[in-house]
Amino acid sequence: MSTIVNDTDSTESKCNNLMNSNNDKSKETEDLYSDKIRDGQWFWNTNTEQIFSQDTIVAVGHPSAKSVVPLELLRYIYLQPHDRIYDPKTHTISYLQTRTYLPVKSLPPREKKRILVTGGAGFVGSHLVDRLMLMGHEVIVIDNFFTGRKNNVGHWIGHPNFELIRHDVVDPFLIEVDQIYHLACPASPPHYQYNPIKTVKTSVMGTINMLGLAKRVKAQVYGDPEEHPQAETYWGNVNPIGPRACYDEGKRVAETLTYAYMNQDCVDVRVARIFNTFGPRMNANDGRVVSNFIMQALKGEDLTIYGDGLQTRSFQYVHDLVDGLILLMNADYKEPINLGNPDEYTIREFAELIINEVNTSCKIKTLPAPKDDPKKRRPDIRRAEQILGWKPRWPVKQGIGETVKYFQRQLEAGLI
Ligand code: UDP
Repeated sequence: MSTIVNDTDSTESKCNNLMNSNNDKSKETEDLYSDKIRDGQWFWNTNTEQIFSQDTIVAVGHPSAKSVVPLELLRYIYLQPHDRIYDPKTHTISYLQTRTYLPVKSLPPREKKRILVTGGAGFVGSHLVDRLMLMGHEVIVIDNFFTGRKNNVGHWIGHPNFELIRHDVVDPFLIEVDQIYHLACPASPPHYQYNPIKTVKTSVMGTINMLGLAKRVKAQVYGDPEEHPQAETYWGNVNPIGPRACYDEGKRVAETLTYAYMNQDCVDVRVARIFNTFGPRMNANDGRVVSNFIMQALKGEDLTIYGDGLQTRSFQYVHDLVDGLILLMNADYKEPINLGNPDEYTIREFAELIINEVNTSCKIKTLPAPKDDPKKRRPDIRRAEQILGWKPRWPVKQGIGETVKYFQRQLEAGLI
């Protein structure tokens, strides 16, 4: 049995207090935050086979990357904000003064890494930060808060292993770290098309700055390149002057830069091609299909399908992506790797799935298709399976269930 932290007793009782302080919960909430967190030490046991042989998902991560974390712990962070109390009568939020942190693993110095996550206050970045923190690493987040939110990482602010720095990756940044996950870039079409010049600058100059940093400190770099259809060998098909070009071409040149630094300066790089990802902490207003549909369904509005709804997307749940990113960072493999869930839906099917999941009688309405909207997207993940031993574990329906719950809680708490 491995140990989570040295100060187990007091940490457990703090967790207890936190959970007890929110005692007006429904049965469902009690299930979520039950004794499992306190008794969760067995989740950390090196013999984790049993965790993944169960029918229901109780943990995320991979034993080989030492990234296994009980799902209850992650849900505790994002489903139940425990550092603030919302008063619906006065519509005010009180932030608690004393900070209590979740237990993080105690790593020996040789295993404990200093890890920089750019865009770490964003949707994907903040889940990666949670995982790396719980794994026991030291995490430095830089974010300009254009789309990222302090609340996404608020539960770690002040923790000795954590630093949050407001900084734009477009400007150079110097720091000594062991690994860099470079995730900084607005990813939803409305956000990245809001200021296309800035989007290109973020991809190009941000990547140059991070690769320059990696070259200086000999860190590993994870690039966040374009969402490609099909296999990694496919070169893509982008309209260089269309509205999506600022993002797509930005990611393509980011890959070019990454391999130039690898070949010219021996920088140790990894490149993940991330396909559509969803989960708690998605921005409710970022215009993406998952957040739009869920918010519309929860508010009883019509779901807006752009075009005929026959275009397809394949959606992966964010914990699967984080698993893949950590595995890739720790693998010795330099070629790009697709990370996505090949389970492909037409947008119309997806709208129906959300309507069922929210259990509402909302209708569907059709709006014009955006320019250059890709017709099909589905990752070929054979490379990730072979090289990383990774494949998505979360069925889309189950991930949607979690995400709906998250948005429901946010609405109840007056946060969106
Ligand atoms: N979409 C839609 N209704 C919405 C938002 C998006 O039909 O309210 C469609 C969009 O046209 C695209 C797909 O859903 O075909 C996925 O869009 P998203 O913006 O989530 O990401 P993309 O994969 O296009 O970057």
